[in-house]
Amino acid sequence: MDKRRAIVIGAGIGGLCSALALQQRGWQVAVYDKAAALREAGAGIVLAANAMKALDLLGVGSEVREAGAPVMQADIRTWDGKLITSLPAAKQAEKYGTHSYVIHRAELQSILLRAVMAELTEIHTGKQWIRGEQTDDAVTAVFADGTQEQVELVIGADGIHSEVREQLFGASPLRYSGYTALRGVCTLPDVPIGAEAGGGFEALGQGRRFGFSSLGNGRVFWFAAINAPQGTVLPTVERKSALLALFRGWYKPVVDAIESTEPATILAHDIVDRAPLARWSTGRMTLLGDAAHPMLPNLGQGGAQAIEDAVVLARCLQQTDVSAALQTYEKERMARAYRIVRLSRSMGRMVQLEHALLIRFRNAVMATTPGPAYVKRFDPIVGYVVR
Ligand SMILES: Cc1cc2nc3c(=O)[nH]c(=O)nc-3n(C[C@H](O)[C@H](O)[C@H](O)COP(=O)(O)OP(=O)(O)OC[C@H]3O[C@@H](n4cnc5c(N)ncnc54)[C@H](O)[C@@H]3O)c2cc1C
Repeated sequence: MDKRRAIVIGAGIGGLCSALALQQRGWQVAVYDKAAALREAGAGIVLAANAMKALDLLGVGSEVREAGAPVMQADIRTWDGKLITSLPAAKQAEKYGTHSYVIHRAELQSILLRAVMAELTEIHTGKQWIRGEQTDDAVTAVFADGTQEQVELVIGADGIHSEVREQLFGASPLRYSGYTALRGVCTLPDVPIGAEAGGGFEALGQGRRFGFSSLGNGRVFWFAAINAPQGTVLPTVERKSALLALFRGWYKPVVDAIESTEPATILAHDIVDRAPLARWSTGRMTLLGDAAHPMLPNLGQGGAQAIEDAVVLARCLQQTDVSAALQTYEKERMARAYRIVRLSRSMGRMVQLEHALLIRFRNAVMATTPGPAYVKRFDPIVGYVVR
């Protein structure tokens, strides 16, 4: 019998994981990306325990563990390095049966690409999706180069600026978070205690914070989130000197990490999300990952939710009626994904505070919250096991 054929638009984490999940359920998949070549950003990503569980189901969890570093320590510090609290990373790992992992995005991408291509999924670059034309029995994907392909299913995994989303549900404005983020990867000969074993810290200042995570072997992934008016993303050549000025006098590893980073590799983005949609699917087309539920990165869950989407979508598509399967998928996934969108926004308000008194109050609350209360609070997100 001929395999059922699907097209995935976008070869990011969500697109590659959905190709992997679908091919494991017997689908033949083609992935199309508009980029001329698949190159991941020079940054790291935290894959929380829930993401690791989903990657295990996709058969790539052990490779990710080998290439990444387990989060053994997660400290919250003041801007000048005083410990506020240590999040109970070991307790969480014990409870969930896996650590969370930090990995370089390029390494995650190459693991996913290898797994996808081992199953003969086609990956086409330089192919920009323009529109989909649906009948009851099929959907025809139309590309910018004039080519077309008719399949049973189209998955829009084309990220936060999704053109599939816009075609299905119209344009919706980006919601600016109030802060801009800069990210980098560097090598530090003297990684601070605790971090060399895997882990790191977030240092919280007034309207700015700095995250530091060990990638193993002396490599460090860092990010800085800075309150600023929308559209203040600096040109590449100015980023490093601006960061050094903004974080002058901070906890030493913060300054060391910025100083050790190659200026041309520093990434900068305004941090945005979008308001939730009422639907993700129409007929034989659906959305997944950031295309469906872009979220602020404050809980480190955007990639994790894309991976969970992929697992659930492939399971739902075991039923033959594609549009009914897509309804089941979005019904199963929407409440969880949008809850995390909301929580990511409120977490952002808390960690980007500017008012000195409120900061003191927040730090006191964090310092006195017992470890088990932290575990309980994040349990619904990180302790979730997708199936
Ligand atoms: C600063 C920051 C830190 C983050 N940290 C974390 C973290 O620690 N943990 C975590 O889980 N998540 C994190 N995230 C979120 C995570 O990066 C995203 O949620 C995730 O990468 C989304 O993957 P995706 O596949 O949905 O979209 P994308 O990765 O954006 O991929 C979309 C792909 O679609 C392609 N495309 C777009 N339009 C078209 C078209 N018309 N035709 C063909 N191709 C097209 C693009 O070229 C791209 O390759 C972070 C995000 C940011 C901004």
